[in-house]
Amino acid sequence: MQKLQAVKGMNDLLPEQSALWEHLEHIVSTVFRQYGYRNMRAPIVEPTPLFVRSIGEVTDIVEKEMYTFVDRLNGDSLTLRPEATAGLVRAAVEHSITYNAPQRVWMVGPMFRHERPQKGRYRQFHQFDVECFGFAGPDVDAEIIIMCQRIWKLLGIADKVRLEINTIADAAERKAHREALIAYFEQNSELLDEEAKRRLHSNPLRILDTKNPKMQAMVDAAPKLIDMLGESSQTHFDQFQALLKSAGLEYTINPRLVRGMDYYNRSVFEFVAAVGDSTLTICGGGRYDGLFEQLGGKPTPAIGFGMGVERVLLVLEQSDIAMAHRVDAFIVHSDFANANSLAESLRDAGKMVIVNANGGKFGAQMKRADSSGADFALILGEDEIAGNLVSVKKLADGTQTTVARADLLAHLNG
Ligand code: ATP
Ligand code: MG
Repeated sequence: MQKLQAVKGMNDLLPEQSALWEHLEHIVSTVFRQYGYRNMRAPIVEPTPLFVRSIGEVTDIVEKEMYTFVDRLNGDSLTLRPEATAGLVRAAVEHSITYNAPQRVWMVGPMFRHERPQKGRYRQFHQFDVECFGFAGPDVDAEIIIMCQRIWKLLGIADKVRLEINTIADAAERKAHREALIAYFEQNSELLDEEAKRRLHSNPLRILDTKNPKMQAMVDAAPKLIDMLGESSQTHFDQFQALLKSAGLEYTINPRLVRGMDYYNRSVFEFVAAVGDSTLTICGGGRYDGLFEQLGGKPTPAIGFGMGVERVLLVLEQSDIAMAHRVDAFIVHSDFANANSLAESLRDAGKMVIVNANGGKFGAQMKRADSSGADFALILGEDEIAGNLVSVKKLADGTQTTVARADLLAHLNG
């Protein structure tokens, strides 16, 4: 039979790599809980109009990257979620979860975008996602960034990560900026590529996002929204920065930071890190004060971010953090039921214990114990079982002693 392969750009997580994933998941979820964020989950599949309406029709995600398909049983158009915010806001509106009080929530899970696969860019990737529903900021704007900084510190990568912030103001200011931009791009129309020409009137802001090097200088000199802020947006941005400074955070203002979705307003940010020769955005977010209303809810100011699991792991992998699969003991035995009962009592005390399976002579079992990475091999031969004893071999140096079963735990801890 011919072997089957995974879908291009969609990766398997193999047991060898899982210790680092679990380490990351443990640190991140612990920190989120420390700040009072509670877990919330929404389905991976949502009605397509949810993403079109929230992310915006003229965006990379909606134009080219979504996995959209027809449910052949009823003809509905469905989409595998390309990001988390739209689904969580849909769920928050559907269940009125901000009815009594604002909510701080988080989730982790797979996202799907049909992009060209390369290092740090996959078609199924994973995000940690945080959302603050019903908070006008700028206090929580600063809080979620401070929370990320704590995560970088605990992971030991704080020195490799850099913070960029910007404000993309509110609708009226963006409209004025948009008009200024269109006028500017029209004056420079000979420099626009095909994609930019197409977006000139539908979404000129996206032109600033261009990766075309020939357009870079012209785009760099375009009018900046940050120079056109009204009083309220300016105050929000000033206070946001003051809070970051008072928490000791370093950042740069990147006036070109616009983010890839239409629902954002005011504070936006990205954490970027160098991986090899390239710079990757490992975490990005922003405020989306209008999204609840856009999805049929009551006015609810909100902010959130998505953190790319695979990209954070790329940064972590450069720092040589050895993540061994931790095993306390491997039981070599002549009787599974007896060995299992010993293992269960050790597990009651919190130990990680592997019991030999698939039979085998003692020599073969000892080899498995060695390659399991366990600290100790516990040997239960017929003599040990008859005498209520356990032979304990310390695998690091090969020293072996025999102890009474009742004393085993103390011996392992000693
Ligand atoms: P990029 O500019 O790199 O395409 P983005 O702006 O599209 O990123 P967001 O939509 O802000 O990304 O998603 C938040 C985070 O999710 C990113 O900062 C990144 O860490 C991660 N991410 C986004 N797309 C991918 C992907 N295709 N593969 C792996 N991680 C991704
Ligand atoms: Mg993208």
